Amino acid sequence: MSIREIKDKLLAIASVVRATHRTSRKTRIISATALGMTLLTFGAAGVAPLAPDASDLPVTLVVEELALPDLATQIASLSPAQQFVSEERVRSGDSLATLLDRLGVNDAQAASFIKSDPAARALLNLRPGRRVQATVTPDGKLLSASTLLADGDVPQKLVISRFGKTFATVQSDTVLEHRTEMRSGEIRSSLFAATDAAQIPDAVAMQLVDMFSTDIDFSADLRRGDRFNVVYESIWQGGEYVRSGRVLAAEFRNGGKIWQAVWLNHPGSADQGGYYDLNGKSLKKAFLKSPLQFSRVTSGFTMRLHPISGKWKQHKGIDFAAPVGTPIRAVGDGVIDFVGTQGGYGNVLVVQHGSVYSTAYAHLSRMVPGMRRGTRVSQGEVIGYVGTTGWSTGPHLHYEFRVNNDARDPNSIVTPQVQALAGVELQRFRSVAADMSHRFELLSPAGLQVASR
Ligand SMILES: [Zn+2]
Repeated sequence: MSIREIKDKLLAIASVVRATHRTSRKTRIISATALGMTLLTFGAAGVAPLAPDASDLPVTLVVEELALPDLATQIASLSPAQQFVSEERVRSGDSLATLLDRLGVNDAQAASFIKSDPAARALLNLRPGRRVQATVTPDGKLLSASTLLADGDVPQKLVISRFGKTFATVQSDTVLEHRTEMRSGEIRSSLFAATDAAQIPDAVAMQLVDMFSTDIDFSADLRRGDRFNVVYESIWQGGEYVRSGRVLAAEFRNGGKIWQAVWLNHPGSADQGGYYDLNGKSLKKAFLKSPLQFSRVTSGFTMRLHPISGKWKQHKGIDFAAPVGTPIRAVGDGVIDFVGTQGGYGNVLVVQHGSVYSTAYAHLSRMVPGMRRGTRVSQGEVIGYVGTTGWSTGPHLHYEFRVNNDARDPNSIVTPQVQALAGVELQRFRSVAADMSHRFELLSPAGLQVASR
């Protein structure tokens, strides 16, 4: 049998093999029918893109010319009780020796092959979290080992297999599957408590915060009973979860208002795009609602007794309490107009947004390196960190929103909108939005207005 024939045969039963890999760690394969799977695990390990369309993928045989023992002889020499399949995740501080040890491999020949073979050496990149599967004999001889190398553009499946007294390495393209997940949740204490309860990954929760941050201040505005629906991508490989992807759509009921967002790629781009409401209006606004991602307003735009001078005066800004070192984001695209110290402001940064608007960020512990007069900054970019420099009684950000250099209450100002979708793009958006609206309906058939208790 040629390598090609073996490969084809094994790919045909890849799903069965996958089932054996999915079983719990250190599975001892004992049943009679498992014999077939065991052999196939062994063989398939030499080929292995375990994706449905795997046969379409380019497979690179790194070591091509091998004195292959007759497959029949190999099959005859194996018995069902002679194989163990195990899977381990790389831990920080792991060496090849500690990893092989946990996998139940006690095989100096295999270890030296992995260290010396140019292709197999990729296994020495012991990135914590990486999964490694191994098939071993009861006395710890390695029959095969495999892992997913997801560093490049196209993830690679690396498989090291024993063929008699020697080893071979095969590296092949693999396919990441994109699945769509739908979840909903209700705020009881905090956003993250709610997303945890709904089994939504933190990376997705952070995207929710970002996408609605021009409308909702997630620390000040959240109310018990607020609800949300979210549709997001998850990335899988060979039936195993790899990571979460982009939020495709979400809706959030905050107090009496409902905010909705649908992702649309820019034309011809796979990963550039933006969020729009269901009418095709961009969610991106000229200014973020808060320069801090999570914060608490301690003093608004009101008359107050100055904490240090003791005189009543207009507080010409908004104070956000936050620990020293909390990142401060530019609320809009602009150019740095001032960086330095200024009397009571302490370390202060001023960003000019066009000719009319500017924003000031005061009492900073430090600026982000490279921020100087004339530096361009974009909305959401971190420009400095919360501190307590200047006339300040504790760590907080003093934020000013200025119109023609006059500090104004940002909540009272109607700021310019970003342009809406039109023409062909609006058509394309409508079809994406219709699909997402349908998913929202599936998640909460009665709509978000009706609290479900
Ligand atoms: Zn202040």
